[in-house]
Amino acid sequence: MAIPNIIAIDGPAGSGKSTLGLKLARLLGYLYFDSGVMYRAVTSAALKRALDINDEGQMTRLSETAQIDVRPPSVADGRDNDVLVDGEDLTPWLRTPEVDAKVSIVSAYPGVRKALSAQQRRIGLRGKVIMIGRDIGTVVLPEAELKIYLDASVEERARRRYQECLARGENIPFEQVLASMRARDRIDSTREVAPLKPAEDAIIINTDNLSVEQVFEKIKALVGFQSEKAAV
Ligand code: C5P
Repeated sequence: MAIPNIIAIDGPAGSGKSTLGLKLARLLGYLYFDSGVMYRAVTSAALKRALDINDEGQMTRLSETAQIDVRPPSVADGRDNDVLVDGEDLTPWLRTPEVDAKVSIVSAYPGVRKALSAQQRRIGLRGKVIMIGRDIGTVVLPEAELKIYLDASVEERARRRYQECLARGENIPFEQVLASMRARDRIDSTREVAPLKPAEDAIIINTDNLSVEQVFEKIKALVGFQSEKAAV
């Protein structure tokens, strides 16, 4: 079984997409591309420039004109990449509660999605890529040979995100993390364009009672990694 050239991993916040996507990319020597970073980059730039998040026209223009660069990390502060918008390093702002609270508003605008998903598609079509997001298997790269949809209950996902915040030294009440996640789930899955949902041919993995290693074993089997090794 050949290793799929394009692998899409979709799912809600905290379902384990980035942890597992990164592990898989390292294992296969593929590019890891987190499409959510682009929506976060536009939202962070809008907040920094004091633009009006509720102004769809402004947000669309920003998405069409901003030069978003994702580069290897230049600072060893736990970041996976440097993310620059028009040359300015916005990496430290991407995962702040302010961006968490606004990103789904920005990502629901059709014009914003059109601009960013075209860039994602161009990158994805180069192949040897693990692309993660909400609509990769449904809209951005429907030709992906393997589509995985990771899911878990909102309580479990909020617990994971809360632990990550604690590990980063951020002291946000659990209730706030849970409420923010519920709000983001609601907007992401009810928007008109490219709502969060599994592709018809996606393989759904519920990660509620599974460790990262257990999910990774399942994903490796889906990718055909073990059978390929065994066949050598
Ligand atoms: O994956 P992450 O939580 O970083 O994504 C942040 C937000 O970006 C999501 O809540 C969603 O609103 C948006 N997003 C999207 N489509 C994607 C990836 C992310 O709408 N493919």
